[in-house]
Amino acid sequence: MAVTVKELREVLMYDPGNIKPGGTDMQKYNVNESIQNQKEYCATKGYSQVAPRDGICGNCGLQIYSVVYHEPNNFQKSFGMQGWVTGVSTEESKMLVIGCPHCRHSFIRLAPA
Ligand SMILES: [Zn+2]
Repeated sequence: MAVTVKELREVLMYDPGNIKPGGTDMQKYNVNESIQNQKEYCATKGYSQVAPRDGICGNCGLQIYSVVYHEPNNFQKSFGMQGWVTGVSTEESKMLVIGCPHCRHSFIRLAPA
């Protein structure tokens, strides 16, 4: 799905690189509600929806609107690093979702000017 540069400048975008500390994430996740939110947001604003309609990332196969916990590896643990979670929450699904929160794959392909 193509999106214009103008659209990119205007919209409030969800940051696919957004990670949240594990265990302290109080955000709500609901796949069906988030799919609907994203669809309605794009329709209302007249933006091209770039996120997959079913929420399944074509790159990693994970559900973008579900929360995934990431366990730190031993190297990260040796520095005291805690686990973290990724996922587009129901609140975040009210912004233009441009990439997968889990693998950071971009859903955007720039349209020719
Ligand atoms: Zn992905």
